[in-house]
Amino acid sequence: MGVNRNRIVVKVGTSTLTNELGNSNLRTVEELSLTLSDIQNKGYEIILVSSGAIAIGAQKMHLAEKPTELRMKQAAAAVGQCENMFLYDKFFGYYNKTVAQILLNADDIGDEEKKENLANTFEALLEQGIIPIVNENDSVSYKEIESDEKIFGDNDMLSAVVAVLCRADKLVILSDIDGFYDKDPRLWKTAKLMKRIELIDETTYALAGGAGSRRGTGGMRTKLQAADIATAQGIDVIVTNGKDPRILYDIVDGKETGTLFAAKKV
Ligand code: ADP
Repeated sequence: MGVNRNRIVVKVGTSTLTNELGNSNLRTVEELSLTLSDIQNKGYEIILVSSGAIAIGAQKMHLAEKPTELRMKQAAAAVGQCENMFLYDKFFGYYNKTVAQILLNADDIGDEEKKENLANTFEALLEQGIIPIVNENDSVSYKEIESDEKIFGDNDMLSAVVAVLCRADKLVILSDIDGFYDKDPRLWKTAKLMKRIELIDETTYALAGGAGSRRGTGGMRTKLQAADIATAQGIDVIVTNGKDPRILYDIVDGKETGTLFAAKKV
């Protein structure tokens, strides 16, 4: 089965959605909502995969630090998810768009029946012109937020799983960096942006440093894993900088931006 030509999954990470203080980056959330609404008006189907719940929840709960204890992380996720959806509902609402929240666990995708129901829910929402906003169900699934057993890696993997499930044409991963470099650009001034990658193998993984920024958690490794899964199913994956969400216009116009992991022929 081929991909849906006009269907795009956009993943936005914690480091783009929050500022240095851990508060919501309202300007980015607003610009992202406007750009995605406008792109939907051009006839595209949009699915947004959004993280940031724990960081934003921790701020709203007036916790001094991002929580380390599991139950506090899960509590912060519950508070932050609510705040995130409130913001999206409001900003997308300005442009007359309806959003829907979908919270997922890894085992929801492993189970065939759940997977089929989930795919049907996405189809029903998209058919109605609704923008699904997806996040990992952190208050239920402890596995993901316990750092040594990452499954979705700050939603990078989740976004690939969703893109495959919905047979999207493109997966765009918005990060705090311009794309995938030949070495971690935060450590190496000489790092060069790789514009196109056809093959992801051990040599590619060796170029990705450890987990990234203080607020982001996945780093480039989980983005490579996500790109590996999605490209294998015929989906182009673009990793680029989310600081100006209008970059999404360039992507739908087919302009070169960030790093393109080219879809395999399926
Ligand atoms: P996000 O929240 O956007 O997912 P992360 O902090 O999880 O952000 O991942 C992006 C970070 O990965 C970059 O800021 C960078 O420091 C780090 N990184 C490690 N290796 C590389 C590489 N080869 N190319 C680009 N970034 C890299």
